[in-house]
Amino acid sequence: MREAVEKDISIYIHIPFCEQKCNYCAFASFCVSESEKEKYIEFLCKEIEKRKSSRPVKTIYIGGGTPSVLSEEQIEKVVKAVYKNFDVYEDAEFAIEANPNSTTEEKLLKWKKLRVNRVSIGVQSLSDKSLKKINRLHDRKMAIEKIKLARRYFSNVSADLLVGLEGESGKDLSKYALELLSLGIKHISCYLLEVYEGTKLYDLVQSKKYLPLDDDKTIEAFNKLSNFLVDKGMERYEISNFAFLGFESQHNLNYWARGDYLGFGLGAHSFENNRRYRNSDKFSEYYESKVYEENLTSKEIIEEEVMLGLRCKLGVDLEKIKNLGYDLTKNEYFADYLRQGIIKRNGNVVTLNPTFYHISNTIIANLLP
Ligand code: SF4
Repeated sequence: MREAVEKDISIYIHIPFCEQKCNYCAFASFCVSESEKEKYIEFLCKEIEKRKSSRPVKTIYIGGGTPSVLSEEQIEKVVKAVYKNFDVYEDAEFAIEANPNSTTEEKLLKWKKLRVNRVSIGVQSLSDKSLKKINRLHDRKMAIEKIKLARRYFSNVSADLLVGLEGESGKDLSKYALELLSLGIKHISCYLLEVYEGTKLYDLVQSKKYLPLDDDKTIEAFNKLSNFLVDKGMERYEISNFAFLGFESQHNLNYWARGDYLGFGLGAHSFENNRRYRNSDKFSEYYESKVYEENLTSKEIIEEEVMLGLRCKLGVDLEKIKNLGYDLTKNEYFADYLRQGIIKRNGNVVTLNPTFYHISNTIIANLLP
């Protein structure tokens, strides 16, 4: 990772469009017409121009939704707006999220030309039965084909897997992970399936037409998958993320380090000089440039430092939070956790032992002011 330079900044660009809604999806993602996409891209480019800054950019992340639904011309417009208005490091990490269905060779080539160097593919499962049940547009065969295609142009390819899908044990997930690794995947994000009210999956679960794993089985499956990935040489560098050395997401590490970032697009969050604000997540308000401020109290800043630091390998800087008014070493659980090896101390930095990531919520809650 680049040595931290105070002025560096990250850029996030949100593309809130998908070709079809997945059953479990509670994100603000929409299936819209081409003309609506065009309107959004036009406005997005204007927003990027309006908020130009002289701060050098160390990472760019285009997320969604499904950014790969954009045409080559649309993505080019957006990226050119960034290059025109920001000073982006030559070696900046530049990631884009993609779904197998909308990833084509032409798009991969265009991304490469635009200096994208990391592609994150939404695989979720390699079981046709599971993929169909959660209403994904791709099947196993297509996921594998598109990963192979992406690997032809990019060495840094990540895949997402969902944990907790009906009938998918840790053994199944490890089998999928092995297939992903054999295709040259260097980073895997493992997310727990959440059943949110208002989603199609919620109704299916209510009417017992879909039976996700219960909490214990989900944790068991996650732990099995996690052990498998670590055995294969990956590092669990954050609660949900595994990578081979050098393939950690620099963009996400910046979030967890509470580094500054600018978010462009519908509902995108920004964090600049301790000021948090976000664009509206309603199209009508977004097009009126409505921005919501989120002022943090000093207690909230300390809580963020502890929560974000402990969920990844960066850890918490004791000196930094002491200067903010919290001496973590005086917390009633601190010494005990240290003795039990639940947390580790290296100079001024305290990290959570990844073996205990599955109970991180409780540990972190106990360590808050
Ligand atoms: S691809 Fe992602 S954002 Fe789009 S509907 Fe599916 S889960 Fe939601």
